[in-house]
Amino acid sequence: MRIVAVISPKGGVGKTTVTANLASELTKSGEHVLALDLDPQNALRLHLGMPHADPAGIARLQKGQSWKNALQKSQFGMDYLPYGTVDETHREVMEEQIRSDAEWLARGLDTLELDDTAIVMLDTPPGPGLYMQQVLSVAHIVLVVLKPDAASYSTVPQMESLIHYYTERRKDFLGYCVVLNQMDATKQLARDIFSILRSRLKDKFIPTGIHRDEAVCEALAYQQPVTEYARHSSAAHDVSQLAAWLQKTYGLID
Ligand code: ADP
Ligand code: MG
Repeated sequence: MRIVAVISPKGGVGKTTVTANLASELTKSGEHVLALDLDPQNALRLHLGMPHADPAGIARLQKGQSWKNALQKSQFGMDYLPYGTVDETHREVMEEQIRSDAEWLARGLDTLELDDTAIVMLDTPPGPGLYMQQVLSVAHIVLVVLKPDAASYSTVPQMESLIHYYTERRKDFLGYCVVLNQMDATKQLARDIFSILRSRLKDKFIPTGIHRDEAVCEALAYQQPVTEYARHSSAAHDVSQLAAWLQKTYGLID
């Protein structure tokens, strides 16, 4: 099993979009993929053709209960595990569970009894936060999503030290990488941030990036991954390049 966590310190950069589309791309190439939503906003479902919030989800499972109880199948072929709808009481119980058990996520994933070739795509809320330690303790690959703006760029050092802190002693950690999403090559600032990131991060920077593309917004409106909605769009092409880069760099697919 390979776990790919999609993280960023900021909201609205494209974590959920990247998670859903990479999950779709890998599914299309024949992989067994599980897309897991760790964000209380429950937005991943909107990209996977599941418009209705489902109360059942990992946040509603009791301690010791198998996460298989909340598993769903998307019409796009991947398995999907929702966060679930929670009221204040459930939220407090859950947050307490997570704070008191550093292995909450690892244990939950174990209950799924996934086969060795499965790929888990983790969508996360903006970090650092309650889930970050859990995520960085299980992920084999961490994919940081940034937007080409100053606010996003300024978070890089903090992100790098956080990743380093939680993963340096882990023998099964393969590495982290950074993808620039919503790239617009007609903008000088976007081109500058692209170059600065590339020279700073070197081989951790994914050179292809993902372009800003209206098809991504349209796909979301129709509750589909862009890889399904507009196969020949520039964003879908970028996602397939991203999957190829992850395969070449980390051997993501066995
Ligand atoms: P996050 O999960 O980091 O909060 P989202 O994936 O929800 O971010 O994306 C935030 C918004 O940006 C969404 O409305 C999404 O449709 C839009 N978006 C994300 N990536 C792109 C892109 N490459 N081109 C155009 N719009 C995008
Ligand atoms: Mg999100």
